[in-house]
Amino acid sequence: MGKVIAITSGKGGVGKTTSTVNLGAAINALGGDIIIVDANLTTPNIGLHLGAPIVPISLNHVLSNKAKISEAIYEHESGTKILPSSLSVKELKKIKPEKIPGVTKKLSKLADYIILDSAAGLGSEALGAIEGADELIIVTNPEMPAVTDALKTIKVAEELNKEIKGVILNRVRNKRSEMPISSIKEMLEVPILGVIPEDKRVQKALLKRDAVIHLYPKSKASRAYMNLSSKIMGKRNNNHEEPGFWQRIRLNLGLD
Ligand code: ADP
Ligand code: MG
Repeated sequence: MGKVIAITSGKGGVGKTTSTVNLGAAINALGGDIIIVDANLTTPNIGLHLGAPIVPISLNHVLSNKAKISEAIYEHESGTKILPSSLSVKELKKIKPEKIPGVTKKLSKLADYIILDSAAGLGSEALGAIEGADELIIVTNPEMPAVTDALKTIKVAEELNKEIKGVILNRVRNKRSEMPISSIKEMLEVPILGVIPEDKRVQKALLKRDAVIHLYPKSKASRAYMNLSSKIMGKRNNNHEEPGFWQRIRLNLGLD
C-alpha cells in the first residue's frame, strides 16, 4: 500500500503547489513511484506549475463517478504521474471534496507515494484532502500570520487523528525580520522537515511551467527539495555535495 501525503497550509500562497510539484518530481527523480494529485478543486494549479496540458478527464470526473481513476492519470515527460483537476468554471458547482478519501484509498494501491496538493485554509476542500491522507506536511513561511494559521491546521488535523509528518519552512531569507526557526518550532511543536530558501529560480521555473528541480537542479531551492525528498523516502541523497559548515549545523539540529 502506498502512502498518501497531503501538502497543506493554513494561509494561502505559502508554497504548497511549489512544494508538491518539486517533492513529486524529486521523488520520481530518486526512483520513487509517485502520483501527484491536484486536490485543490476550485483553484487547481498543478497544471500551471508542471506544464500539464488541459485534459479531457480529470479528478472532478472521478469524484462524480464519470470516469475511472486510471483514465484520469497522465504522465509528465519526466515520468512523474499526475491526476489533475478541471480548470473549467462549469465544473465548480459540481465539486465533491467529501469523496476525496475514497479516491485516495484506491490511489494508494497504484503507487508508493501519493502527494495531494490541497487548498489553503480549513474549508471543505482542504478538509477533504486532510481526511484522505495518511500523513500531513504543513507548509508555512517564516512569518507570524502564516505560522499562526499553520498551527490551526495542525490542531484540526490532530483532532482528526491524522499523523503530522512535519513542516516545510518555505521562502526563508534568513532576515532579522523573519520569525526565527527556533520560535516556529516551539510554537508548532512538530518537526521542521525542511527549510527551502527564497530563490528566484522557483519563480523562473514557474514562468517556464516546469519544476525548479528539473530546470535548475543546482539551485538552492532544488537542493533543499532533493534533500527533503530523500528524507521522506528514508534514504540518503547521494546527489548533493558535501554539506558545508552551516548545513552541518542544521543537520545536527535536525533541520535538514
Ligand atoms: P500555494 O500553493 O501555497 O498557494 P504557490 O506554490 O503557488 O503557493 O506559491 C506562491 C508563489 O510563491 C508562486 O509565485 C511561487 O513561485 C512563489 N514561491 C514559492 N516558493 C518560493 C521560493 N522558495 N522562492 C521564491 N518564490 C517562491
Ligand atoms: Mg496552490
